[in-house]
Amino acid sequence: MAPQQSHHQRSRAARHRRTALVAAGMLAAVAAAVVVVEQVMPEGPEQVPLSEAVAAVAAGDVESASMDEAAATVLLTLQDGSSVTAAFPKAYAGTLTEQLVDAGAEVDTDPLRAPGLLSSLLPLLVMVALVGGLVWAMRTGALTGARSMKGRRGKQVDDVPSARFSDVAGCEEAVTEMRELVEFLRDGERFTRVGARPPRGALLVGPPGTGKTLLARAVAGEAGVPFFPLAGSDFVETYAGVGARRVRDLFDRARNSDGGIIFIDEIDAIGRARSEGPGHSGADTERENTLISMLNEMDGFDTDHRIIVLAATNRADVLDPALTRPGRLDRQVQVPAPDRRGRTEILTVHARSRPMADDVDLVSVARRTPGMSGAELAQVVNEACMEAARRGLHLVDSDCLDAAVATVALGRARTAALVTDFDRRVTAWHEAGHTVAALLLDHADDPVQVSIVPRGPAGGVTWMSGNDDMFLTRGRALADLRVSMGGRVAEELLLDGEFTQGAHGDLSAASARALAMVTKYGMSRHGYLLVDDDTVRMGGEVAHEVRAVAEELLRQAHRDATSLLTGNRALLTAVAEQLLEAENLTLAQLRVIQAEVAARDLGRIPVQAGARTREPA
Ligand code: ADP
Repeated sequence: MAPQQSHHQRSRAARHRRTALVAAGMLAAVAAAVVVVEQVMPEGPEQVPLSEAVAAVAAGDVESASMDEAAATVLLTLQDGSSVTAAFPKAYAGTLTEQLVDAGAEVDTDPLRAPGLLSSLLPLLVMVALVGGLVWAMRTGALTGARSMKGRRGKQVDDVPSARFSDVAGCEEAVTEMRELVEFLRDGERFTRVGARPPRGALLVGPPGTGKTLLARAVAGEAGVPFFPLAGSDFVETYAGVGARRVRDLFDRARNSDGGIIFIDEIDAIGRARSEGPGHSGADTERENTLISMLNEMDGFDTDHRIIVLAATNRADVLDPALTRPGRLDRQVQVPAPDRRGRTEILTVHARSRPMADDVDLVSVARRTPGMSGAELAQVVNEACMEAARRGLHLVDSDCLDAAVATVALGRARTAALVTDFDRRVTAWHEAGHTVAALLLDHADDPVQVSIVPRGPAGGVTWMSGNDDMFLTRGRALADLRVSMGGRVAEELLLDGEFTQGAHGDLSAASARALAMVTKYGMSRHGYLLVDDDTVRMGGEVAHEVRAVAEELLRQAHRDATSLLTGNRALLTAVAEQLLEAENLTLAQLRVIQAEVAARDLGRIPVQAGARTREPA
């Protein structure tokens, strides 16, 4: 690498000399222009702020006006014979003309008939243009030579993203880590002065849609440097040499710019650990070449290039160790799926520029969207806005958000789907079974929303609040099994012991949970000895025993759900009937039904029923 570095240093010195020369030349020109302006410029009309000019118009002080639309200036001749000029925003020209005409001033829009104005402004314009040119040159790096290569090669001007850290929510730790990179990009010397090896790059690790790309863009945005993105999947099945060349081109572009963020999405597509031995396919070799080229490029930029490589992946464990060696992507930053607070923050970020009604409660939306990524939450907010538009509303209300959550989680409602009366009744009872079990069981999550509108493959859905607890207690695991069984049990109650295949999804989830309780969590009479999945799959005595215990858990859950729902048949019936009528019920509405049924049971009039609704009268 030594020759490369000395080349860099040489070119840097040359660049600095060139910069100094050109800058000195420009300054001399500006100084000369100032002298010329001072000597040549005649005593012109006084330049006043637009507000003052408009005030004069309004006060009727203006005799005549000459507008130069192209230069966006106006020369006003006042009643007392003096004249002033004012600049105005181009878009204001029409309004200003109207004001002048209304005020009875003689208006002229021909700049040639405004003697003195243009000629007196000309030297000033020359100077402004010169200074502007200098500023432009400084900003674009034309003087420093940073862009000159690019200009020669006809590359586009690289964009600095507008994203900021304030756009990224729910991953505070990752943002904190990224701030240091921004510090480096802004003021690298502070690091090198004290001998710190500046960061080369970082690996952002997390599931899809958690904001890794957004975070990388925000680093570039905060540091004011361009963003050079690249996706690993672009390289899959490319022609020989194309991947490696693309990598080189990208790094070249970044090097020719005055710093930047190189972002490689899905780096695992390129950076998987190199496989050993023979038996390589052509694609493997190609991928390897791309990876090697990337490693070379990463080693090749020295510290005066303010370039940081950020790469994103869901699987840090499969990456080639060469990529994560010190001096390369040696920092790992976790960008996990957001927890409840994180989800609230993400929703808030996306809702802040949208017109939200007062009844919107983002905390409650966050509570019932466990497992959703930042991207899905962004989609929820957007879908809610779409829903508001469809309903012709000016504000996005909580009904729109409820609908959006369901749409994003389960697919769009199939309003045109043909649903027979029988299917609707079965669905309503099935969902009411889950809902009532969840309402009544101590350790169960609350049902926040239940719907019998068909969506995607589902006939209906009961939406549980979910929670972000890391630990699952045995009580909650058992309650989950009973809630799962509630759907099947309700069908049996509706159909006098008959039932449908509608519980398939519930049974599959409950079976997996029950098996895990037996083989992994030590939560059954099977005891504490764990059993691996292969043993269960292979059959044999242990597998048989394990399955028997899991089945027992499910049977017990079915029995418990049966006694619970039989004992609360009035509530079950009421919820199912309301569902048939309203199609969707929220937790607040469910509580009202629960209170009414409880009051009826006690033979009382439900005087308090309204107190539980969202909008008390
Ligand atoms: P990833 O790169 O992790 O797959 P993205 O950054 O592409 O995810 O996320 C896609 C979009 O989802 C973002 O542009 C943003 O609108 C939204 N989003 C994702 N995560 C977050 C977050 N943590 N905060 C705010 N918005 C987010």
